[in-house]
Amino acid sequence: MDMMIVNARVLTMDPAKPRAEAVALAGGKVLAVGSRAEVEALAGPAARVIDAGGRTVLPGFVESHLHLVLGGSELVQLQLGGVHGFDALKAAFLDYAARNGHRPLLMAQGAAYEILDQPVTRHDLDRIIADRPIAMMSPDHHTVWANTAALTAAGILHGAAMPPGHVVVMGEDGTATGELREFEAFGPILALGGEAHLQLGIATGGEPTPWPDDAMRAADKDKVAAGLAHCAAHGITSMVNMDGNRYTCVLLKEMADEGRLTARVVVPFHMKPHMEMLELERASAMAAEFTGDWVRSGFVKMFMDGVVDSRTAYMLNAYPGTMERGEALFELERFKDICTEIDKRGLQIAVHAIGDAAVRQTIDGYEAAQQRNGKRDSRHRIEHIELIDRADVPRLGALGITASVQPPHPPGAMDFPMSTMDSVFHRARWRDAYLWKTLRDHGAPLAFASDWPVTDVSVMRGIQAAMTRKPYDGAGDERVSLMDTLYAYTAGGAWAGHLDGLTGRLKPGLAADLVIIDGDIEQIPADQIGATEIALTVAGGRITYQGAGFAA
Ligand SMILES: [Zn+2]
Repeated sequence: MDMMIVNARVLTMDPAKPRAEAVALAGGKVLAVGSRAEVEALAGPAARVIDAGGRTVLPGFVESHLHLVLGGSELVQLQLGGVHGFDALKAAFLDYAARNGHRPLLMAQGAAYEILDQPVTRHDLDRIIADRPIAMMSPDHHTVWANTAALTAAGILHGAAMPPGHVVVMGEDGTATGELREFEAFGPILALGGEAHLQLGIATGGEPTPWPDDAMRAADKDKVAAGLAHCAAHGITSMVNMDGNRYTCVLLKEMADEGRLTARVVVPFHMKPHMEMLELERASAMAAEFTGDWVRSGFVKMFMDGVVDSRTAYMLNAYPGTMERGEALFELERFKDICTEIDKRGLQIAVHAIGDAAVRQTIDGYEAAQQRNGKRDSRHRIEHIELIDRADVPRLGALGITASVQPPHPPGAMDFPMSTMDSVFHRARWRDAYLWKTLRDHGAPLAFASDWPVTDVSVMRGIQAAMTRKPYDGAGDERVSLMDTLYAYTAGGAWAGHLDGLTGRLKPGLAADLVIIDGDIEQIPADQIGATEIALTVAGGRITYQGAGFAA
């Protein structure tokens, strides 16, 4: 439907015309941006008029790093955010168990690493529920703790052979302690829940066999729909999914054809270390098959390391008080060859790199690809960059590498506890942790995200985190200004996802993707932005979310 939004404070993110008071939408695209009179003159007489009441209007948010299918399916699982101590944990599980008698696995999300005061074991969980498989996942999604029933059912109570970086932690008695680090280790537990085929995009990069039938796909699409509705309520109209396979694309494409897709989704091919180079043919095939405005592929995701909390992030120096420094999941020379091959295929690369050694090795790979193939508009990106050596900071900007970083992630910035800082980073390196402003000042394009379901997908809370973060001891001020933050959540994200010809700014000819904030974002104190609601989300000219208090 054609629409005209008036009486608005429009921040277009288009440098040619940064501010306006009205926007007209037609045929799923932006028709005009300007004064009310200018816009009215162009909008058809049948256009629906929405009075924004002086609220801020922005391009729809671009979530640059999330996991839609996983996030959608986790919405029905037990949520342990904020739960601390054995008694609270037990009460939460018992309540959830009582309401979910039919589930083959009682799965919980958001279990803080320090949920109990000592490291969690299967015996702790057995004291909660012993006769049914139960398990809980850390917020970063890189560790799972399972009870004995779950470990037994999954066949890993006595350990299992694992690829490098993935660990079934074993106790002195020769049985698994219950702590499982990285996906290959806890994949068998998650599979007990009957959703293993939805985990493939992150686990193996493979396709479900047998191919899910109509009924199974319908159930999967309902989970994705729940995830999409959750994102629409946070103003998100585009997203870069950071796991994937062809099945993910097919599900989303079916939803688009059924009119159920409320955000544009970019889906990668997931390249695992054990794969032959030839498997990149599948990445090219996905890129060729999915080229639409709503579902597209065209990039390859890899993991260079794990995460800091489980000390699987690959560091230049040993973790405090240990000899460990994590390990690279790809060997350097092979990684350079893989990057060169992906780049030669005209595809984009996104690598999860958290430790400073992982970040350096990823840059080395991108640099090698550029040296061998020549410079092109590749927009390769690095996801997370939690620690970086100062010598590598200018290399991002010089090579045009996007820093795809998450304002909710630094300990203390939003939901993650400050205690992580001391246990994983040497004090002297706090100044090199979670750099955003520094990377930007050295020329790296920024794209912001939540990594949902790792953290709350709320963009408004993310904006607040980016603007209010306090410097770590001995570190510089890494806060980013409101306008730079909004840019990284809109036009910056669109550029980093090769979506800039489609969305990310409010400009005639681009997609009718916008969000109305419930207030004037330039007047809201930074520490209250996170509590500000979304009034209206519009994707492709269609209203995908309307706040309860907003009469459109
Ligand atoms: Zn992720």
